[in-house]
Amino acid sequence: MELLSNCLPENLTYSNHTDTCVLHNMKEDVANIIAPLLVRPITRWPFFAFLGGAMFCLLASSTCHLLSCHSERVAYFMLRLDYAGIAALISTSFYPPVYYSFMCYPFFCNLYMGFITLLGIGTVLASLLPVFQTPEYRTFRASLFFGMGFSGAAPILHKLILFWHQPEALHTTGYEVLMGLFYGIGAVVYAIRIPERWMPGKFDIAGHSHQLFHVLVLAGAYTHYRAGLVYLRWRDLQGC
Ligand SMILES: [Zn+2]
Repeated sequence: MELLSNCLPENLTYSNHTDTCVLHNMKEDVANIIAPLLVRPITRWPFFAFLGGAMFCLLASSTCHLLSCHSERVAYFMLRLDYAGIAALISTSFYPPVYYSFMCYPFFCNLYMGFITLLGIGTVLASLLPVFQTPEYRTFRASLFFGMGFSGAAPILHKLILFWHQPEALHTTGYEVLMGLFYGIGAVVYAIRIPERWMPGKFDIAGHSHQLFHVLVLAGAYTHYRAGLVYLRWRDLQGC
């Protein structure tokens, strides 16, 4: 009774008072039942695939650099794992933007997802082949990684054409451009061996191209994670 009397204006009689309060409570109940249906969270698997790829990459890199000093033979395997991890990160990075941008266009969604999956598997396999490790293939390795990153331009431009009026599309594109810069600079630094080419021997312990490459990959992955959160919020609120 006390609860009811707190509910509504003083000029109502007791019976009106009770009816309106019950109605009011029912409305709230119905609103609470309907709300999850209106704001239905969309599937998370592309975002989790990206997080899985990023975790695999970081685990592979840490394992590689922890164990590669053991022996020449272990170093040989570990370096391959390092590149395979980065290839996995770059290819899974495409999953959230492509899936959430084209979830209402299944043809393009499958096309882009299929393409990056094949390219990712190809790059992981190429990273594991012994011939891939020889110095002559250094530029080829960098080009493969660079090409994989650069192939993201097509779905991003397509997304801008389809959703140019949506603030989320521009917001995520900003993050993607930044991510592309980090990955691109990482590949260039790696391929032309900056900065040790200028002062050989000075960066053997710290600051050499391979370390800068890892730091840039990490920065790219974090930027991508921020973009992923924007995609989730956008699609959770608007659906298709
Ligand atoms: Zn490494």
